[in-house]
Amino acid sequence: MFSSEIIGKFKAHVTPFYFYDIELLKKTLESVQKAASPYHFMVHYALKANSNPTLLKLICEYGLGADCVSGNEVARALETGFTNDHVVFAGVGKSDEEIKYALSQSIFSLNCESIQEIQVINGIAKSLNKIANIALRINPNVNANTHKHITTGLEENKFGINLWELDQVINVIKPLQNINLIGLHFHIGSQITDLSSFKNLCIRVNEIQQWAIDKQVSIKHINMGGGLGINYNEPDQFPIPDFENYFTLFGEFLELQPNQTVHFELGRSIIAQCGNLISKVLYIKNGSSTDFVILDAGMTDLLRPALYQAYHKIENLNSTKGKKKYDIVGPVCESTDCFGKAITMPETKRGDLLAIRSAGAYGEAMSFTYNLRKIPSSIFSNNL
Ligand SMILES: *Cc1c(COP(=O)(O)O)cnc(C)c1O
Repeated sequence: MFSSEIIGKFKAHVTPFYFYDIELLKKTLESVQKAASPYHFMVHYALKANSNPTLLKLICEYGLGADCVSGNEVARALETGFTNDHVVFAGVGKSDEEIKYALSQSIFSLNCESIQEIQVINGIAKSLNKIANIALRINPNVNANTHKHITTGLEENKFGINLWELDQVINVIKPLQNINLIGLHFHIGSQITDLSSFKNLCIRVNEIQQWAIDKQVSIKHINMGGGLGINYNEPDQFPIPDFENYFTLFGEFLELQPNQTVHFELGRSIIAQCGNLISKVLYIKNGSSTDFVILDAGMTDLLRPALYQAYHKIENLNSTKGKKKYDIVGPVCESTDCFGKAITMPETKRGDLLAIRSAGAYGEAMSFTYNLRKIPSSIFSNNL
């Protein structure tokens, strides 16, 4: 995927750094909008996947809304140019300060995850003389069939309001004068590649809609969350996820009530494939079964492998000759600081550049400074 011209230009930059393919991001955004528009679905971008200002600005220009999980993300979205009526705020632990800020900015909706949170929001809204638009984040108890650390829609997870609490929640909300219930929100997990999970979600949402009708609760907006997976094994063969199949499924199985709008919150599927972590080989070291490739990038630059055993394809950009098995590791003082074990690669030597692929989502956004390491810089294909 990387031309020799681009690889040549990489040499001028201090490693490790994130390299973003802007053309691919544009094509991905076009593909999302093309697939969602026949159904009039409103797509939000989940900032937590990657809130790099340059990337955010481009995403905003394509007309997406913003899905935020902290007050600072709400602020970043508004600074970028997302309009307040396209900003939603979710999360199990919103602080009073964050709630105050979100209400003062009159954002589209606060997605609420517990009874106590709704009561607190009502109190804060009252003190600000505001009406808070809220959606209930419901835990639909649908299995996302993904890694257990990124499953969110099962009763054992901390997220959302459980189905058996719904009657009680409605009774609590009814007398609250500063709460306006506008929607239902669902998000069952991330890196979901088995689309039948989304079909099961649609079926469950239809049941919940029936419950709302029976209870005479009017619901204007349905938010189906995000979670569409990408192909980490073959990023060049499948650079853009199949958004058409994804949205068609919801178009087919979701039974909407008159005048309802449907929202989505995609993070990974939009931003993952356009990002790569570029790192330099510091040392080759003999090991007992395989040799170690020691990189100048570590878990502080890309945490996913250490955090949930995530796989990223790794390519040597300077060597194609030979074949050998390596453990590819970072410099951080932790045994989990490892990007891959027994990976077959061309013969690799000190100074080679390696690309860790599909790293645009939950990569740069999760970087941290353990060992007093630097946060990696980012460079863009249109400004190399
Ligand atoms: C993380 C998150 C998303 C985005 O998930 P992806 O798997 O990146 O698409 C959407 N909605 C909520 C509430 C989230 O927490």
